Amino acid sequence: MLCRSLGFKFTSHIKKIKPERCLGTAYNKYFNNKYFKSIEPHIVKTRNLFYLPSNLVFNQYKNDLCQVPLIKSFSNNLNKTYLRNFIKISDTEDAITVSTTTSKVIVDWQDNQTSKFHNIWLRDHCKCSECYHQITKQRLLDTFSIPEDIKAISTSPGPEGIEIKWNDEHKSFFKWGWLRRHSYDPKFIDNQKILNIRKTLWNAGIKDCPPIVQYIDVMNTKEGLASLLKNISEFGFCFIDDVPHAVKETEELAKRICFIRETHYDLEHGDTAYTTLPLRAHTDNTYFTDPSGLQMFHLIEFDGKGGSSLLVDGFYVARQLRTKSPTAYETLSTITIPTHSAGDPNTLIQPTPNGYPILNHDPLLNNSLYQIRYNNDDRSTMNHLESEQVLEFYDALRKWNSLLKDKHNEYWFQLKPGRVVIFDNWRVLHGRDKFSGHRRLIGCYLNWDDYQSRLKISHLSQKEILESL
Ligand SMILES: [Zn+2]
Repeated sequence: MLCRSLGFKFTSHIKKIKPERCLGTAYNKYFNNKYFKSIEPHIVKTRNLFYLPSNLVFNQYKNDLCQVPLIKSFSNNLNKTYLRNFIKISDTEDAITVSTTTSKVIVDWQDNQTSKFHNIWLRDHCKCSECYHQITKQRLLDTFSIPEDIKAISTSPGPEGIEIKWNDEHKSFFKWGWLRRHSYDPKFIDNQKILNIRKTLWNAGIKDCPPIVQYIDVMNTKEGLASLLKNISEFGFCFIDDVPHAVKETEELAKRICFIRETHYDLEHGDTAYTTLPLRAHTDNTYFTDPSGLQMFHLIEFDGKGGSSLLVDGFYVARQLRTKSPTAYETLSTITIPTHSAGDPNTLIQPTPNGYPILNHDPLLNNSLYQIRYNNDDRSTMNHLESEQVLEFYDALRKWNSLLKDKHNEYWFQLKPGRVVIFDNWRVLHGRDKFSGHRRLIGCYLNWDDYQSRLKISHLSQKEILESL
């Protein structure tokens, strides 16, 4: 049997148990840590529907299906989508039947699902070594050499997958697992990131157990580096302890992830970050088309007063806003904010397009929130607003600001020589208190794409990467 639909098993088990009991047992089991108890369970709310990320539930409860959490407000429709995520895929078992029409190849799976693939789509996605470079993972096939009337002459299903002979004299082989994973009509699983690391959202309670790794582990072992990157991905930040109090070693630590990004600030200092003024919670580089992904700080010398550092989990605050005021959330997800950096006579940086919303969503990943861009001090003149948007915008901004400044959401800490903090500038907002005295803080930016690349390479095999592309 190719696809064991755990969904049905799950359904029959779940009926025997009261939803309230499932909810309680599963949550207590899963969310059994200090700071999570103080906030809501890990529920993602999307367009008025509630669900739990499938990988989280599946991995935790695959041997214990009757304890999969149920959400009371599940609609029947959503349940179907939800259950589809429980389908297990095996590479080694046969599909029931494969048939063809003039334009499509049709796969009837063992669980009574049917996938339909257009001939042109399948031929274009051929993964043989003639059509696809196995090392560079780039298409070798000239898509435009495929005849418009491309058809399957014969199909030969086997234990691993299916061989298709085409009327252009080419033979393709597709693994069952690949076909099931990439089926688009219908889609069996929601589009997912290649690497799904659960995000743990947090508030001020994280002060009791912030993620920390040791410098020596990060520098000397693959596992140490992977653990640092996983923490940053899960929590949006991580401390690194016992770092030598020196520029060179701090720089080498950053370079374990990727090269350091140069910016106009390397030479110029026309920004409040270089004063002793307090800084409200913000993300950096809102004026760049591509804001830096990670930011690193090391306070290597300090002899003075004040200067506490602040982190706020922007994804947690965004979720609060979405729950409390869906209209404000929508406003901050749609109205674009023009920004600039022009603190030096030789600089005028503005993003292209000219502005982005504060809350940015990925249409290819279930419209999930992927980036926060917020620095109220760098906002340019809002003359692009329609008259009727003005009050709506300020109302939404006020609601966002009051949640950001809620002391329950603020994580304050004192940086000290030897402890480096690295945080996700697309998720976590940072700030600091005013200070006096001598303070030598060194810091740098890393690119989002290069950080994400290192994160994925640290956690995935080449086989997993190849099958996901
Ligand atoms: Zn081929």
